[in-house]
Amino acid sequence: MNIHEYQGKEILRNYGVSVPNGKVAFTAEEAVEAAKTLNSSVYVVKAQIHAGGRGKAGGVKIAKSLDEVRTYAEELIGKTLVTHQTGPEGKEVKRLLIEEGCDIKKEYYVGLVLDRATSQVVLMASEEGGTEIEEVAAATPEKIFKEYIDPVVGLTGFQARRIAFNINIPKELVNKAAKFMLGLYNVYIQKDASIVEINPLVVTGDGNVMALDAKFNFDSNALYRQKDVMELRDLEEEDAKEIEASKYDLSYISLDGNIGCMVNGAGLAMATMDIVKHYGGDPANFLDVGGGATAEKVTEAFKIILSDENVKGIFVNIFGGIMKCDVIATGVVEAAKQIGLEVPLVVRLEGTNVDLGKEILNKSGLNIIAAESMADGAQKIVEQVG
Ligand code: ADP
Ligand code: MG
Repeated sequence: MNIHEYQGKEILRNYGVSVPNGKVAFTAEEAVEAAKTLNSSVYVVKAQIHAGGRGKAGGVKIAKSLDEVRTYAEELIGKTLVTHQTGPEGKEVKRLLIEEGCDIKKEYYVGLVLDRATSQVVLMASEEGGTEIEEVAAATPEKIFKEYIDPVVGLTGFQARRIAFNINIPKELVNKAAKFMLGLYNVYIQKDASIVEINPLVVTGDGNVMALDAKFNFDSNALYRQKDVMELRDLEEEDAKEIEASKYDLSYISLDGNIGCMVNGAGLAMATMDIVKHYGGDPANFLDVGGGATAEKVTEAFKIILSDENVKGIFVNIFGGIMKCDVIATGVVEAAKQIGLEVPLVVRLEGTNVDLGKEILNKSGLNIIAAESMADGAQKIVEQVG
């Protein structure tokens, strides 16, 4: 789960990690009021969306007066911001962070992420701040430094100082930077984060080290014990279809293509996406209905696929082991009855109760294209959406 920058900064502030003063605003009026409470002559008006790259897309504005704060706030609220992380459709700005302008001397990058290969949290840092870390990794990998953190010992002061030296933090500020990183690690662990990214971390004119941006991602399996984090969830930033799917415990991820896929088992779902791609198609989603799905759950899954306007055809690919083919068939027929089915449907069924499943589909009166195998099904649906 993601949260907004201003929420991330609030968490950091509570843990004694240095951030600029700032306040959230939902209207231009609130933005001006927020700016008045800041003891500053330069303000920064920052669009709050669950995506980075806002600076380059015009979502971060420096204002030199309260009037400018109002002008920028009016401009940004309600605007659809397209950044390289939002996709071409962009994201509508509904909240702003009004923050003190900061006298930046230099920008750095600091991130904490779980490294699955070593099963350790890794602290990454670079003196190439402000830029995407992927770009730094591609162009100048030697400028990224890493410290692998022993889960029992935690991040040590030595490691924090070493990475601060490596990224060339001015000597007199190394201790401040190390303290910053220790605080950041503390937040990461105590809040069950999976990513904390500070880009940029800055050294200021008056000798401070602080976070100018904050990206948080939390481990959703741990949210049950992070009630305060859960409250920061902004459903308007999330895909409506994914929210609906999570209510029914379906593993659904929305994608950009036009072939809806209904599959059981994560492995088969991945393979289905691959084979659709292989034959030149584009999946509209990843969907694993799971092993013990009921007909009701399958109905909901099918409805979610159909609610996606981009879907021009559906491929149902079921290998019934624990999941029974008749349950899938019943769910598909029920959903089609409830909301109508106007796009081609290719079905490949195999496994437990396959004959019963096929019979249910045949008797349903739905226009179904039967497939003999997974490859046959993929080819047929790609042809249909052509
Ligand atoms: P994004 O990563 O989405 O582009 P950032 O929060 O990193 O957004 O802001 C982009 C850039 O704007 C930063 O690299 C920094 O140069 C500038 N900036 C952001 N916040 C402030 C601030 N409070 N004071 C001065 N400059 C800022
Ligand atoms: Mg940033």
